[in-house]
Amino acid sequence: MIRDVEIRHAKIFKELYSQMKNKNLYKKAKEVEWICPACGYVSFDKKAWDECPLCQVKQGYCEVNLPKKFTILNKKKQKNV
Ligand SMILES: [Zn+2]
Repeated sequence: MIRDVEIRHAKIFKELYSQMKNKNLYKKAKEVEWICPACGYVSFDKKAWDECPLCQVKQGYCEVNLPKKFTILNKKKQKNV
Protein backbone atom coordinates (compact mmCIF):
# COMPACT_ATOMS: atom_id res chain seq x y z
CA MET A 1 0.00 0.00 0.00
CA ILE A 2 2.73 2.48 0.95
CA ARG A 3 4.62 1.34 -2.12
CA ASP A 4 1.62 2.22 -4.29
CA VAL A 5 1.56 5.71 -2.85
CA GLU A 6 5.24 6.19 -3.53
CA ILE A 7 4.83 5.01 -7.10
CA ARG A 8 2.05 7.55 -7.50
CA HIS A 9 4.24 10.31 -6.11
CA ALA A 10 7.01 9.36 -8.49
CA LYS A 11 4.54 9.58 -11.38
CA ILE A 12 3.36 12.99 -10.22
CA PHE A 13 6.93 14.30 -10.01
CA LYS A 14 7.68 12.87 -13.42
CA GLU A 15 4.59 14.54 -14.86
CA LEU A 16 5.42 17.90 -13.28
CA TYR A 17 9.02 17.63 -14.41
CA SER A 18 8.07 16.90 -18.00
CA GLN A 19 5.58 19.77 -17.92
CA MET A 20 8.34 22.05 -16.67
CA LYS A 21 10.73 20.83 -19.35
CA ASN A 22 8.12 21.40 -22.02
CA LYS A 23 7.39 24.84 -20.57
CA ASN A 24 3.74 23.98 -20.18
CA LEU A 25 3.59 23.82 -16.42
CA TYR A 26 1.68 27.09 -16.45
CA LYS A 27 0.22 26.71 -19.91
CA LYS A 28 -2.20 23.97 -20.92
CA ALA A 29 -3.78 22.85 -24.15
CA LYS A 30 -7.22 23.15 -22.59
CA GLU A 31 -8.74 25.05 -19.71
CA VAL A 32 -7.82 23.80 -16.28
CA GLU A 33 -8.48 24.89 -12.73
CA TRP A 34 -5.91 27.19 -11.15
CA ILE A 35 -6.12 27.66 -7.42
CA CYS A 36 -4.38 30.29 -5.33
CA PRO A 37 -3.41 28.64 -2.05
CA ALA A 38 -3.08 32.03 -0.37
CA CYS A 39 -6.60 33.36 -0.90
CA GLY A 40 -8.45 30.48 -2.51
CA TYR A 41 -9.08 32.29 -5.78
CA VAL A 42 -10.02 29.83 -8.53
CA SER A 43 -9.97 30.48 -12.24
CA PHE A 44 -10.49 28.34 -15.32
CA ASP A 45 -7.99 29.22 -17.97
CA LYS A 46 -5.43 27.76 -20.34
CA LYS A 47 -2.61 29.48 -18.55
CA ALA A 48 -1.90 30.55 -15.02
CA TRP A 49 -1.91 34.16 -13.92
CA ASP A 50 1.42 35.93 -13.41
CA GLU A 51 0.10 37.30 -10.18
CA CYS A 52 -3.07 36.30 -8.42
CA PRO A 53 -5.68 38.91 -9.42
CA LEU A 54 -7.00 38.93 -5.87
CA CYS A 55 -3.99 38.86 -3.56
CA GLN A 56 -1.10 39.38 -6.01
CA VAL A 57 0.70 36.19 -5.02
CA LYS A 58 3.21 35.18 -7.69
CA GLN A 59 2.43 32.51 -10.27
CA GLY A 60 4.72 29.95 -8.65
CA TYR A 61 2.32 29.63 -5.76
CA CYS A 62 -0.73 28.69 -7.74
CA GLU A 63 -1.84 25.10 -7.89
CA VAL A 64 -3.40 23.12 -10.64
CA ASN A 65 -5.38 19.94 -10.39
CA LEU A 66 -3.47 17.05 -11.87
CA PRO A 67 -5.00 14.89 -14.55
CA LYS A 68 -7.49 12.40 -13.11
CA LYS A 69 -5.14 9.47 -13.67
CA PHE A 70 -2.98 10.86 -10.87
CA THR A 71 -5.73 11.50 -8.36
CA ILE A 72 -7.92 8.43 -8.57
CA LEU A 73 -6.72 5.36 -6.74
CA ASN A 74 -7.26 1.96 -8.20
CA LYS A 75 -10.12 0.67 -6.04
CA LYS A 76 -9.69 -2.97 -7.01
CA LYS A 77 -6.12 -2.84 -5.75
CA GLN A 78 -7.22 -1.32 -2.44
CA LYS A 79 -9.64 -4.17 -1.77
CA ASN A 80 -6.87 -6.74 -2.09
CA VAL A 81 -4.79 -5.15 0.67
ZN1 LIG B 1 -4.60 34.83 -4.29
